[in-house]
Amino acid sequence: MRQHRLSLCGEHFLEWFIARTERFIEKYGMFGPEDRVLVAVSGGKDSLALWDVLLRLGYDVRALYINLGINGQRYSGESKARVERFAVEREGADFQVVDVRQAYGKSVPELASEKWGRKVCSLCGLVKRHIMNRMACEGGFAAVATGHNLDDEAAVLFQNVIHWQTGYLARQAPVLPSTHPRLARKVKPFFRFYERDTAAYALLRGIDYIYDECPYAEGATTIFYKELLNQLEARSRGAKQQFYLSFLQARQEEGLFSRAMEELELGECVRCGQPTTAPGLCAFCRLWEMS
Ligand code: SF4
Ligand code: ZN
Repeated sequence: MRQHRLSLCGEHFLEWFIARTERFIEKYGMFGPEDRVLVAVSGGKDSLALWDVLLRLGYDVRALYINLGINGQRYSGESKARVERFAVEREGADFQVVDVRQAYGKSVPELASEKWGRKVCSLCGLVKRHIMNRMACEGGFAAVATGHNLDDEAAVLFQNVIHWQTGYLARQAPVLPSTHPRLARKVKPFFRFYERDTAAYALLRGIDYIYDECPYAEGATTIFYKELLNQLEARSRGAKQQFYLSFLQARQEEGLFSRAMEELELGECVRCGQPTTAPGLCAFCRLWEMS
């Protein structure tokens, strides 16, 4: 791990990885041992690794798998099989499934195909955020944890900076506190790990995850930004880490974007009751209304 000037064998890497996750959960006040945590799993390496680490650390954790119905169920079917296998092999690994098509009548790609001009991924993100928040609030969970790693965060930061999207920048953080009784706290315990670290953890732990990217991820700009940042990293050790951590520091110390946060007034959706900045229906309910 060039960014840390550290080389570890498999055994010590696992110890280091788990201890570091715990340290960041505590340092950033993500959740405590008494909290119930909902971990969103996709069948990929990051989310399954996160589920594994949280179980090993003894947290009160339950997983949520959202079946988006991608690729005529083929991609989703395979990713769900990974989640099921993971749960079978580990004691105490409980999970629940929300099937978008069963619950709302259409899969995410079906819904997207009717909405010209809306990319599958932006729609998918909206659906996932809504379901995660709903399940967390209905189930009385203290927080929703996702497996985003430092490469993910740095790429999104890069994108937000390039387009100078202050609203998105204001809400990009490893911990998003709950600002409404029906809005769950969102946390990213892996936000300090490089992607290759989470991959190494999954490999060393023998986690069978889905290797293929979602077919809609192909050509995504965030993947291009990840490649750019990797080029930067190859030239300058620790560049990705510094880029993201310096942003977090400036955000905190200089109160950057605090105005953008203040401007965000939350009401409740008249249909589903979830918090929204829009008057009347929330973006999720509007989506189904128009389809
Ligand atoms: Fe959804 Fe896009 Fe991610 Fe696929 S790549 S799971 S469509 S957000
Ligand atoms: Zn709604």
